[in-house]
Amino acid sequence: MDLRCTPEDELFRAEVREWLGDHLTGEFAELRGLGGSGREHQAPQERQAWNQHLARHGWTCLGWPVEHGGRGLSLMRQVIFHEEYARANAPARVNHLGEELLGPTLIAHGTDEQRKRFLPGIAAVTELWCQGYSEPGAGSDLAGVRTRARLSDGEWVIDGQKIWTSLAQHAQWCFAVVRTEPGSRRHAGLSYLLVPMDQPGVEIRPIRQLTGTSEFNEVFFDQARTEEALVVGAPGDGWRIAMATLGFERGVSTIGQQVGFERELAGIVATAKANGRYDDPVLRDRLAQASVGLEVLRVHALRTLSADQPGAPSVSKLLWARWHRELGELAMDVRGPSALTVAAPYDLDAQQTLFLFSRADTIYGGSDEIQRTIIAERVLGLPKEPRP
Ligand SMILES: Cc1cc2nc3c(=O)[nH]c(=O)nc-3n(C[C@H](O)[C@H](O)[C@H](O)COP(=O)(O)OP(=O)(O)OC[C@H]3O[C@@H](n4cnc5c(N)ncnc54)[C@H](O)[C@@H]3O)c2cc1C
Repeated sequence: MDLRCTPEDELFRAEVREWLGDHLTGEFAELRGLGGSGREHQAPQERQAWNQHLARHGWTCLGWPVEHGGRGLSLMRQVIFHEEYARANAPARVNHLGEELLGPTLIAHGTDEQRKRFLPGIAAVTELWCQGYSEPGAGSDLAGVRTRARLSDGEWVIDGQKIWTSLAQHAQWCFAVVRTEPGSRRHAGLSYLLVPMDQPGVEIRPIRQLTGTSEFNEVFFDQARTEEALVVGAPGDGWRIAMATLGFERGVSTIGQQVGFERELAGIVATAKANGRYDDPVLRDRLAQASVGLEVLRVHALRTLSADQPGAPSVSKLLWARWHRELGELAMDVRGPSALTVAAPYDLDAQQTLFLFSRADTIYGGSDEIQRTIIAERVLGLPKEPRP
């Protein structure tokens, strides 16, 4: 892929910039900068209203095919949109899981009925989704899933527990991996179900995090129900579908994420200038390294998106997660002792939230250790790690 923009791409960039400038005004202007990792509790309903406004003007699902309600835009145009979106400091989007993960999964593996029923709600941001994969005994080792479902009178009846379910408290639906063949083990006998969250059999318990906020939850299924037809792929084929979803996980929005990183780094540089620590040669060196690292991330992410290289998403995840965690540490070192002061009751500022939330970067979306195993096996061709 040619990583340079064509003159037409630049016109598209100008169109996005102008539209955001014209529409991030009035009540929406107050939402600038709200939301995102560690700050998802900020104005969720108002941000959803903004997302619905984006949808009405055709700014959601840019990469989905036109026949499924998207705009079928090229990779470069999607990247440009996310860059401009982040540059405008527009509020963090609320529907990442539906738009980036479930939507593409349904387009590739769903039935016509499933696509007709769910894609419009995702595109219009009227139905929000959460991802029910992890369980207390099944995180890195997802094949250890124990939540089970059985068919009864034309419905799946689900019992078990999920954990770390991000934004479940705001979601109307969950795409969940559950065991549907009694006695099956590991990857066999799993199914990928679409489960309504608003029902008596679903209990959501928020988990309080280091940041003081609750973005993820425990989700308990106690005879929860969903229609028999709401299985994606065949019953028992859930592992394949679940892996397909993960394949969509590191999409073009990672480029927008990096514009957010750029803003965080600029904030840390500004702090260093303001408090005089800019003169500390060690901190100067680390700030310069962070800046170089950010450029490496950007080039690597673009290359990863443009070519199907085995293991490349794992290299990207390792790179950005480590870089971002170190950025959080750098923010605290630049701040010095004031970094330890928190306004009552527990009101963290943006850099404190960055430091604390970025501890999770090397865990979610596949931990560092798991990414290294993938690189060892699929890129370097080393012998496979013994499986449990
Ligand atoms: C912020 C955040 C949001 C999340 N959101 C969601 C969500 O929306 N939905 C969802 O389903 N899950 C979500 N998760 C869960 C996430 O996918 C899991 O935390 C992750 O897969 C790790 O699983 P675990 O926590 O069970 O840790 P474990 O798998 O128990 O791992 C513990 C430690 O052991 C290491 N380890 C495990 N296996 C190996 C191995 N074979 N070789 C070497 N080291 C190993 C790990 O790297 C880790 O350091 C989220 C997690 C976080 C932090």
